[in-house]
Amino acid sequence: MQLWFDTEEVFVGGRWQLPLSDEKLPIEDPSTGTGIGFIARGGAADIDRAVAAAEAALDGEWGRMTAAERGRLLAKLGRLVSEKIEALAQIESTDVGKPLSQARNDAIALARYLEFYGGAADKVMGETIPFNQGFTVYTLREPHGVTGHIIPWNYPMQIIGRSVGAALAMGNACVLKPAEEACLSALAFADLARQAGLPDGALNVVPGLGEEAGAALSAHPSVRHLSFTGSVGVGRMIQAAAANNIVPVTLELGGKSPQVVFDDADLDAALPFLVNAGIQNAGQTCSASSRILVQEGIYDELCSRMAAAYDGLTVGAASADLHVGPLISARQKEIVEGFLAQTDANHILSRGRIVEDAPAGGHYIAPTLISGIAPDHSLARDEIFGPVQVILPFRDEDHAVEIANGTDYGLVASCWSRDGGRQMRMAKRLKAGQVFLNNYGAAGGVELPFGGIGHSGHGREKGFEALYGFSVLKTVAAYHG
Ligand code: ADP
Repeated sequence: MQLWFDTEEVFVGGRWQLPLSDEKLPIEDPSTGTGIGFIARGGAADIDRAVAAAEAALDGEWGRMTAAERGRLLAKLGRLVSEKIEALAQIESTDVGKPLSQARNDAIALARYLEFYGGAADKVMGETIPFNQGFTVYTLREPHGVTGHIIPWNYPMQIIGRSVGAALAMGNACVLKPAEEACLSALAFADLARQAGLPDGALNVVPGLGEEAGAALSAHPSVRHLSFTGSVGVGRMIQAAAANNIVPVTLELGGKSPQVVFDDADLDAALPFLVNAGIQNAGQTCSASSRILVQEGIYDELCSRMAAAYDGLTVGAASADLHVGPLISARQKEIVEGFLAQTDANHILSRGRIVEDAPAGGHYIAPTLISGIAPDHSLARDEIFGPVQVILPFRDEDHAVEIANGTDYGLVASCWSRDGGRQMRMAKRLKAGQVFLNNYGAAGGVELPFGGIGHSGHGREKGFEALYGFSVLKTVAAYHG
């Protein structure tokens, strides 16, 4: 792993500096379970300093830039990211334990987000509104001001792209608190932003613990918008903090996303999506498809085809670039094992294989395919955040909808069928922020608004929609007689 910045510093006001606490946190390589260095343990004082730097940026060069100038800077940052794809992929792969080619895709996605939001920055427009005689009325889209971004460890680069990318495009000044488990790519991103010439304070990155730096950022009275991606429990706290300061909040909290496979589906086309959407990033994906709903007539066939696919899955070190890498931590592995302990061998249809040379200290779990449990079983209802998928049979459309919508979550869903009418009905009836017809995930879909309903959260990131979320609408009513 090739690093060109000091991992023990915070990036505040355009400069690398030691955290005021002067404390650090150890970081680990999940593939080996061994320490690979230290990061800053940013605290409330560092967050104060970062928020002050962001406010100063809004009053200074950053706040005076035109939308086109901001867009040009983001596009330049995107090009710098593009030139560093391999280095960023290495960093993310080592830090998150993500198979190298999956980490490379994340780096490419980050560059694409910056390209997209760079191009979009000067295309967000207001409206003129027909009104009473003697008035001209129009709307302006303005930045919130300082935006706080608290992100998780599973897809740091992609989440930075969609969240910080959109917030900067609208002219906000960002304070980013990456996850303590994996924040190296956020630090690399900060340095690339410095190299791109982003004005001081437009982006500040303060690593640290959730209950310290994260809590301080979410409670800070000068932060005018919060975006959070992570667990439901912490999401509740962030929303409470936002309520206290009366600021808007975007929450993306995960899911239990179903793929619904009807008996007229093209199973050859569906199979790779059914499996990959469950095991990508070792299932540690908010939009992982952890439930596969299959119509009765093809249930046995699909079970055996998925089981055969699982037989071929290999698990090992991120650098080996197999199908599945380690989980992020010993704690996460324990959580997933706890879920698996709720079932017995009869219900395990198939498992992947941990390769022999997988390092002994890594947090590996063989992907596990489960069948024969009821839809209200915890394994079929709760988010596991590991490489575990459950297959559930259904009779007809009504039954499929009942099971698919039967959890607290609603992030994404898919329907596999050749029947156009059924596709349209299912798209309407499935409770989710995104519905995919005969695909899953739309290859990441930078342009496609993303977010959940229910316990999956609220607000939308990605696409143009995110730009509306990261701005405030002002109505100007001019009376001129
Ligand atoms: P996970 O359980 O997957 O690690 P979390 O929701 O705990 O997900 O973490 C997501 C992000 O939220 C991380 O950056 C973490 O540091 C942060 N976080 C955790 N606890 C808090 C908190 N009390 N206040 C603010 N941020 C927090």
